[in-house]
Amino acid sequence: MKEVSTRVVARMASRVRRAEPMARHTTWRAGGSADRWFQPRDLRDLCAFLEQLSPTEAIYWVGRGSNLLVRDGGLRGVVICTRDLNRLEFDPQGGLWAEAGVPCPRMARGAARLGLAGVEFLAGVPGSLGGALAMNAGAHGNELWRLVTEVETVDRSGRLRRCSASDFQAAYRSLRRVSGEARNEWFTGACLALKMDSAAVVRERMLEQLRHRTATQPRSLYSCGSVFRNPPGEHAARLIELCGLKGAAEGCARVSPRHANFIVNEGGAAAADIERLINRVRREVLKRTGVTLETEVVIIGEAVPPPGEQW
Ligand SMILES: Cc1cc2nc3c(=O)[nH]c(=O)nc-3n(C[C@H](O)[C@H](O)[C@H](O)COP(=O)(O)OP(=O)(O)OC[C@H]3O[C@@H](n4cnc5c(N)ncnc54)[C@H](O)[C@@H]3O)c2cc1C
Repeated sequence: MKEVSTRVVARMASRVRRAEPMARHTTWRAGGSADRWFQPRDLRDLCAFLEQLSPTEAIYWVGRGSNLLVRDGGLRGVVICTRDLNRLEFDPQGGLWAEAGVPCPRMARGAARLGLAGVEFLAGVPGSLGGALAMNAGAHGNELWRLVTEVETVDRSGRLRRCSASDFQAAYRSLRRVSGEARNEWFTGACLALKMDSAAVVRERMLEQLRHRTATQPRSLYSCGSVFRNPPGEHAARLIELCGLKGAAEGCARVSPRHANFIVNEGGAAAADIERLINRVRREVLKRTGVTLETEVVIIGEAVPPPGEQW
């Protein structure tokens, strides 16, 4: 651990929540508790927290929890939630700088107001910029990393770095570092290049994409969006529907009758219900079509042991 005054360590410790239910912080509204939870107020606060953290404690990074399944046994370590890293600045000439916690819809709406085109597709993605960078979020034929020119990262010792987009290679819903030192690092912000257009045209494009979502997705129910990646040249939803799995349920988790690649929590689903349903869908689709579906959602944490069994 770096040398940080005991006063700073004590102040930080008093703001760490213990046994924080992750169901409060995921759009599936399911899952166990995190041992420790910290929500930095700003970048300085984040770096100070990381500086005093034990180098052996596991860190989980969470934005809006809209692509996360936390198992019912919860998380051993500390969750850092970027929700309050929410500075957003536009360059009316064609760009934006946003901190990792800025919600994607806020970026899309702000850009549309100024007639800046490119991020309309993010209006219906209920995640943070940080999560969208990590997942290379995309929709309607667009992907976030096509717009990224620069990112800022922080490592576990609290050191900030600016990196070029070319240090990363983005693919369909995935990202990897291709140059620079490989290290534990997370995104604290990014610069996106946008194009100038008519505000009315950008706004209409954004609204049209939102209307399409409302018509095709179960927007009012708890979900994590698409559960599976689309296999090359195929749609996961089509395969799931083909196997007669629309409406299939495990406990209170159900394959949405509206969009077969969505699993919805009908109220009170355990993470284990959702994971059992994910595995059932994968098994059935493999058996009936020969296609192995890969999850797009990130699954983390410990399963609850069967009754009577020790941890
Ligand atoms: C109704 C609905 C519709 C959706 N539609 C789409 C869609 O059209 N397209 C699409 O791509 N996704 C979609 N999603 C999924 C989700 O919104 C995106 O993947 C989003 O980008 C995740 O952001 P988040 O902040 O919620 O990430 P989280 O769920 O909090 O985290 C996801 C992953 O990113 C990591 N992460 C989070 N923040 C950071 C950071 N700052 N630095 C490094 N890693 C980080 C986490 O550790 C985790 O591994 C949808 C989800 C819902 C619920």
